[in-house]
Order: sequence, then structure tokens, then C-alpha cells
Amino acid sequence: MSPVDHADLSDFRSTLAGPVLTADNADYDEVRALWNGMVDKRPALIVRCHDRADVVAALAFAQTHKLEIAVRGAGHNIAGNASCDAGMMIDLSTMDAVEVDLAANMARVQPGVTLGQLDAATQAHGLAVPVGINSTTGIAGLTLGGGFGWLCRRYGMTVDALRGAEVITVDGEILYASEQDNAELFWALRGGGGNFGIVTRFDFELYPLGPEVMAGLMVFPLEQAESVLTQYRDWILKTPVEFNTWVVMRHAPPLPFLDESVHGTKVAVLAVCHTGEQAEGEALVKQLRGFGQPVGEHIGMMPFVDWQQAFDPLLAPGARNYWKTHNFTAMEDGLIQAAVKEANGLAGPECEVFFACIAGVANRVSADAMAWNARDARFVMNVHARWQEASDDDACINWARSVFASTRPFASGGAYVNFMTDEEGARVQDAYANNFDKLVAVKRQYDPDNRLHLNQNIRPD
Ligand SMILES: Cc1cc2nc3c(=O)[nH]c(=O)nc-3n(C[C@H](O)[C@H](O)[C@H](O)COP(=O)(O)OP(=O)(O)OC[C@H]3O[C@@H](n4cnc5c(N)ncnc54)[C@H](O)[C@@H]3O)c2cc1C
Repeated sequence: MSPVDHADLSDFRSTLAGPVLTADNADYDEVRALWNGMVDKRPALIVRCHDRADVVAALAFAQTHKLEIAVRGAGHNIAGNASCDAGMMIDLSTMDAVEVDLAANMARVQPGVTLGQLDAATQAHGLAVPVGINSTTGIAGLTLGGGFGWLCRRYGMTVDALRGAEVITVDGEILYASEQDNAELFWALRGGGGNFGIVTRFDFELYPLGPEVMAGLMVFPLEQAESVLTQYRDWILKTPVEFNTWVVMRHAPPLPFLDESVHGTKVAVLAVCHTGEQAEGEALVKQLRGFGQPVGEHIGMMPFVDWQQAFDPLLAPGARNYWKTHNFTAMEDGLIQAAVKEANGLAGPECEVFFACIAGVANRVSADAMAWNARDARFVMNVHARWQEASDDDACINWARSVFASTRPFASGGAYVNFMTDEEGARVQDAYANNFDKLVAVKRQYDPDNRLHLNQNIRPD
């Protein structure tokens, strides 16, 4: 039952370019579904905005009818804040245009764009924005929380590439935020999440890339993981920033290049991406091979846009997911031992512990330059518990919490808000550390009543 009068809703619909869905619309269930299958919320209204005037109208309507607001980009966030029960979902997923302006060396990106759409548009010109590693993730949530992927070592965080953003405040004012205009708002948007307004356009600097890169996987049995990781941790920091390697400990998927006897066994996978000269990449991969006795390898030149989709099959929407995260300045012996021990007890065939290396350009920016502050972090761990049946909830969630607890003594400050669940609100202040007070001040200025609170919330009080 909608909390909104039928006549009011009909008037509202007539003012919009996009549709408003209620539970009786055929596509309601498809649109309200989020990436994390554990989240099952039922908004009273879903406003599928087609332009910024729709966003302004949606905010005003929600205010008049006292509806809670959830803002949805591509719906990937683990916490499930892109939807709500009984309130209004402002769905931006159909605002998905990308304009590549070669003269200005800038990509102008609407908030419903996925990483795959952005990569396709920029790589057509041999250019890229440094974003995440899964093509169906949304640019909006990713950017507002920080954003890192294969290019982070060379080109920095996604927020480092942000040059400006068009923002609609909760009062419906359309602002442009950049280092020149509304500078404090811009500072807060670069990592402070969806707390300050609704972004209707992101303007990114573009960087040369590929379009071919050297990428792929090298697979070691989990028995070799401690030795491989101990060699990897210092070595990776000495490699050129064009080179990146992340480590994933999990059960081996049935990948065609792996012998069938390896499928389903516990492995440490090194995922490689090199964006420099091919010969340099080959030499580095040769060193990596020497860290143990790999049971399989598939590394070669490929289009960057293909590599950006390589993990999509393992990350399809709809599964049940629970994540835990820490940052690390170094991978100490104790951390490696704890992580490998936990990987030996993986809670299910789709669960994994991964370490992303973000060391490089991002470490050269000062911690107070913008809201995203973990400038000392060289590695980010994501404990990714993933499973299909609700009956496995306890086992998988408890396993993730155990990995989180046993690796905590080695963690540095901060935490990546984009990997935090809905139960980690108390961690938000720690996540932003010395930048927190300034974020509260900006929140007070732009959203004093905390209407945008379905996020990793920075409360105005
Ligand atoms: C499979 C998978 C892979 C991932 N890989 C990476 C990775 O490689 N690197 C990385 O850094 N992160 C990664 N992430 C995390 C990702 O950055 C976050 O989940 C991010 O929030 C996703 O953005 P979205 O737009 O899809 O999310 P949504 O769930 O749609 O939005 C998340 C939140 O952002 C806010 N929001 C969204 N759009 C707007 C807007 N236009 N204006 C204001 N607020 C808004 C809202 O508060 C919303 O609740 C991954 C996540 C998944 C599920």
C-alpha cells in the first residue's frame, strides 16, 4: 500500500520525464533488486530519473510526503543502502551517458554509468579513468567512496581523477563542485559517500592506456601461499607503478587453463595487470613465476576492456554476500600467517580473501587533500563471503568475522567505506579519522536534517 495519495502520485508522474514504479508495476521487482541478494527491501516508490529535473522533483516530492530517500546507481553496494522499505528509491541507473571530450581531456559521466560503459567509451580513444575491476559496478557509488582498481598504482584513486561534479542538494539546488567552485563540498564528495547531495554528473581527467595490457592469472596451491605471499609483499612495492598484482585465496573455479584435478582445490591466485611495455611485463611475470610452483597460468596481451570483465562471472548479482575489510601499510608475517590459516578454513566454494595492492600514486597525496584519507594504505583486504542459500548465512558470516578479527592486529587506520556492511555505522568515524570533523561540518551545511542518511552515514550532529 503506497503512503501517497493516488491523485498526488498521478500529478507527480505527469511532471517527470521518467516513470515512477510502485509494487503493482511488472518491472518493480527487477528494478528494486540489488547486487547483494541478502537485501530485500520494498520501496513505496521507485523514481526512475531520466534527467536532473526528475531528481529535483523527486527530492521535493519526498520532502512533501516525508518519504525516506535511497539513492541508487548500479545497486552494487554491499550494505544495500540503495534501496529502502516504504520510502522512495531515486533510481539513477537509466541516466547512463558518457561524453569523452578529447579537447578538455575529460570524461563527463552520468551517475547510472557502469564501469564497463565508461571503459568502453574511454578505451575507444586509448584513454581511461582509474576505476574498479568489475564491469557491472556503478561509477557513482564507487567514486563517492574512493575507488581503486588495476590502474590505482599508476594513476591513483578514482577520486584523485575527479575534476568536478554536478550536485543536486536536498533542497533542489543545482551546484557545480570543483576545486574552484564549492570547494568544501567537492572535498567531501571525494570519498565522503552519498551524504551531501545527489550527483548527476562526474567529470574525470583521462589518462593514456593500452588499449592492450598484459594481464591474467597465475595459480599456486594454497600450501605454497605463505611462501608466495612472503616473497610478493616487498617485491610488489619495488615494481614499477605500471605493474599490479592482487592476491586471491579461494577454491579454484573450473577455469579452462587449469587441469581438472585443480578445480575446486584451495589455491592462491595472483591476478596480474601490466600497462607498460610488454617486455617489462614479461620480465616481471617471470620473477613472479619463480615464487613457487604454479599449477596453472594464463597471462598475455589482451584488450583492457576484456580484462575488466574477467571477474564478472564470479561476481554475478543475486548471491548472498557479506564483506569485511581492513587497510594495511605492510603485509607483516603475522598477517600472512593469519590470512592463510583462515583461507584454509574457507566457508564455502565462492568465499575468498583478497588483497589488493594500491601502493603508488595514491600514497603521494596528502591525507587531508580530500575526504578519502587512507594515503598510507598499500594493501586493502576484502574478506568476501559469498554463498547461495540462507541456511549457510551463519557459517559464512561467522567465517568472515573470524578473518576480520584475526587480521585486525596488523591493520592500519581507516577503512574503505565501499566495502563496509550496513552494521558498521560505528566504524565510519574511524574510517575518516582526522577528516571526520570537517565532513560533519560539510554535512551540516548541505544536509542539516540528514535526509540523505541511507549511506555510511556522517551525521550532522
Ligand atoms: C562485484 C563488486 C566488485 C567491486 N569491485 C570494486 C573495486 O574493484 N574497487 C572499488 O573501489 N570498489 C569495488 N566495489 C565496491 C563498490 O565501489 C561499491 O559497492 C559502490 O558503492 C558501488 O557503486 P554503485 O553505484 O553500484 O552502488 P549503489 O549501491 O547503487 O550506491 C551505493 C551508495 O552510493 C550512494 N550513491 C549512489 N549514487 C549516488 C549519486 N549519484 N549521488 C549521491 N549518492 C549516490 C548512495 O548512498 C548509495 O547507497 C565492488 C563492489 C562489487 C559488488
